[in-house]
Amino acid sequence: MEEYENLSQAKDKRYFLETYGCQMNEYDSSLVAELLANRGFSPTSDPGAAQLILVNTCSVRDKAEETALEKLRSIAHHRRRDPSVRLGVLGCMAENRKETILERIPEVDILLGPDHYDRLGELLDHPDQKLSSALGPDIAQTYEGLFAAPPTGVQAFVAVQRGCDMKCSYCIVPTTRGPERSRPLRDVLEEVRRLVDKGVVEVMLLGQTVNAYRADDGNFGELLAALDKIPGLRRVRFMSPHPRYFTDNLCKTMADLPSVSRHMHIPLQSGSSRVLRSMRRQYSKDQFLRIAERLREHMPDVALTTDIIAGYPGETREEHLETMSVLDSVRFDAAYMFAYSPRPGTLSADMVETITETEKQARLAEIIELQRKHTYQRLDESVDSVEDVLLEGASRRNGSEWIGKTTHFRKVVLDPGPEAKAGQIVSTRILARRGQILWGERA
Ligand code: SAM
Ligand code: SF4
Repeated sequence: MEEYENLSQAKDKRYFLETYGCQMNEYDSSLVAELLANRGFSPTSDPGAAQLILVNTCSVRDKAEETALEKLRSIAHHRRRDPSVRLGVLGCMAENRKETILERIPEVDILLGPDHYDRLGELLDHPDQKLSSALGPDIAQTYEGLFAAPPTGVQAFVAVQRGCDMKCSYCIVPTTRGPERSRPLRDVLEEVRRLVDKGVVEVMLLGQTVNAYRADDGNFGELLAALDKIPGLRRVRFMSPHPRYFTDNLCKTMADLPSVSRHMHIPLQSGSSRVLRSMRRQYSKDQFLRIAERLREHMPDVALTTDIIAGYPGETREEHLETMSVLDSVRFDAAYMFAYSPRPGTLSADMVETITETEKQARLAEIIELQRKHTYQRLDESVDSVEDVLLEGASRRNGSEWIGKTTHFRKVVLDPGPEAKAGQIVSTRILARRGQILWGERA
């Protein structure tokens, strides 16, 4: 029993926490950090110095899972060497790959799913002899009243919605994160006000279909309008919206709100209506094109970014070329591009993959190549324009150079002068592009 000592009473309480995956996982890790801080724990970047070792995991693609398993394997010896150390797996893999984790890394003694982070303290106070776990969806869980650790910079993530009600055929998220639920609007506003008081000027609202946000006290448009009124909050971004919720009404609301950034992410996945149907994406190619057009009608200078999956089961060469053609007609500013990765337990995992891994990678490479061309074109088109650049921090290479972003989420390097401060918005003339970065000077 001695080895399962009550960690909350240990003298030197340090924890190591490594995070994989999306922004939502980053946010969840800061919830956990805050929870641990409230219990007197302090962070360390050295797993060898920690009494509590945690890995927050991602299940979206096979590679993400393998990376996390590799990390766990490489740190498990700290747990073997010192039996009072506790090793925990948080997030989607805890929910989804419990057996694999325990089989491959038997040292793991805590498993915590995305709806149970608030039970970490309880698990540490009452350690089970073998394994402490809290798993499964909790549809009431919105972490009401629990706020994430304060960020170190001028930007912060704020989760406004958890889970997902879509059933995209390829996606494990609804299984690992449970059904969709929205945090109360008043709770979100309180969190954002606290952040602004600590110097944050830009927030990124997080949710799997964030523009479908609908709490008892407001919908997404109302949330954006309420945030726009918070003094000191300069920019609001959100990730990841679903194309079908970009209604005309929402587009109009966003266009009228100065704080809403002129960058919208609209995940396409495929440019073939047949593939989209098989993916259960709930829009056709033409509907998607219409949504992109609508966003540009309301916000003519909006930057559009997207997600693409190459080599979905049954995707023909012609269907792949349809994706390339949608990329050509929308000319996105940037994209996250992935090779299809079958996820056990999803609908598409039972579909026969009709192309070889080499062909899948070749299609992905074609998509990446085309997108790179569009990204450069878009950036080149912004040369000579004058943009509001939100300063994020001084460049590590050269102290007088600062890095910031335009409302379109374009990275700009400039020398704003000696009075520069993070969070300041500087009117900047864009002079040139180098790679994916713009260079500018005070306008
Ligand atoms: N909720 C967001 C949406 O609907 O766009 C995305 C969430 S998902 C974590 C992020 C991206 O991962 C998806 O948009 C998709 O492009 C990609 N993705 C999800 N499952 C995948 C799979 N099985 N194989 C390859 N890419 C996948
Ligand atoms: Fe996954 Fe689709 Fe939900 Fe996005 S909308 S998280 S891709 S199921």
